Amino acid sequence: MIPLCDQARCEAAGCTAATCIGAGIASNDELFARSQAAIPGGVNSSIRAFKSVGGRPYLVARAEGAHVWDVEGREYIDLVQSYGAVILGHAHPAITAAVSEAVTGGTSYGAPTPREMKLAEAIRERVPSCELVRFMNSGTEATSTAVRLARGYTGRDRVVIFHGNFHGATDALLAAGGSGVATLGLPGTAGVPAGAVAETLVVPYNQVPVLDESVAAVVVEPVAANMGVIAPAPGFLEGLRAECDRVGALLVFDEVITGFRLGAGGAQGRYGVSPDLTTFGKVIGGGLPIGAVGGRAEVMSTLSPLGPVFHAGTLAGNPIATAAGLAVLGLLTADVYGELERRAQRLAALLTDACAGAGLAATFPVVGTLVGMFIGDGDAPVDFAGATATDEATYARFFHAMLAEGVAMAPGAYEALFVGLGHDDAVLDTLAERAMRAAAMTVATS
Ligand SMILES: *Cc1c(COP(=O)(O)O)cnc(C)c1O
Repeated sequence: MIPLCDQARCEAAGCTAATCIGAGIASNDELFARSQAAIPGGVNSSIRAFKSVGGRPYLVARAEGAHVWDVEGREYIDLVQSYGAVILGHAHPAITAAVSEAVTGGTSYGAPTPREMKLAEAIRERVPSCELVRFMNSGTEATSTAVRLARGYTGRDRVVIFHGNFHGATDALLAAGGSGVATLGLPGTAGVPAGAVAETLVVPYNQVPVLDESVAAVVVEPVAANMGVIAPAPGFLEGLRAECDRVGALLVFDEVITGFRLGAGGAQGRYGVSPDLTTFGKVIGGGLPIGAVGGRAEVMSTLSPLGPVFHAGTLAGNPIATAAGLAVLGLLTADVYGELERRAQRLAALLTDACAGAGLAATFPVVGTLVGMFIGDGDAPVDFAGATATDEATYARFFHAMLAEGVAMAPGAYEALFVGLGHDDAVLDTLAERAMRAAAMTVATS
């Protein structure tokens, strides 16, 4: 572990190291104020700014297993886990060793490597629909490449997406739509020209849309994990497969969250539906920047240099990220998934008990190793309209009560809760106690 600065040591040493993070010297407030002066909003991914829950973020000094520590030395049981990227837990020894070893051989070459070959082989072995795999640096790059590839392969422009699904910061997929009906996309954010989403159709989740021959691809989160956690309704994924086949459109599963989290075969293995293309990110990099597109060889061969659809990346297939990815996939055995699923069930159960005990209405749906949270009365939702009925104000209070007790959840009401190998039963016992106090506090302050 890298030693942290502490006040006495830093002052005594007159430390001016460029990489010094000032932990133990400055407060979260001071350091976040400095960040805000240098970085828009003080963050590099907008949700981290706490805008939807209020307050200011804690700055992480280090993390290990299930825990993160902020720059003031406060410890949190972490349910963010880099939004699921660190499935083995923070600073897992196998990842640390793989990265340390790889880094001594150079950090990027601009030439092919055996390691990226091995990671592509590891993905092919586990996900049969991925006959060929191309790497990039993020899930966002993966979804934008998949859209370009689908359009290039089919010679069509139209892309169908689902309300409440999230596919990263890809212009064509940042479309806003009405929640109950199919709508042609309007820009979902400033800076996306109308033209970029003019061919993006947004339809309700868990209903199979009727397609026509203008559709290049249907892009879907096979388990929706960015509007809470919503399982596909029986027949939904099969229906999409059949409808895509009927009109000659490609089915693209965005498995950036579900890939290698819902078992080695991802959501497609779990539900037995094969997409034409799959996007990956998060888990396959072990917490390092990575993304990938995999799919049928015939479709993937449309990518340059074999075909006419351009793709490139200076750091794509990065030797450090692929080393971490190989270490992760090597450790994710069926036993590990079984254990993670047990922990996900236990997390949902203890949170359900904590909320019920305090009289706080909430449901915690579980799909495999993924846990969601919806605050309010009623059943777990099946689509975006249902998901947005969650009580965001109460979520914000519960979030801050949990944080005060030492449990870090995502600072937004629509994110999943992530367990990893660090969340053993002792950690979950402690979490249960903290959650009970936090739920009681949430109710007391409402
Ligand atoms: C996180 C996520 C993305 C974007 O991945 P980045 O690595 O953040 O660019 C895309 N799709 C889904 C389903 C995601 O959860």
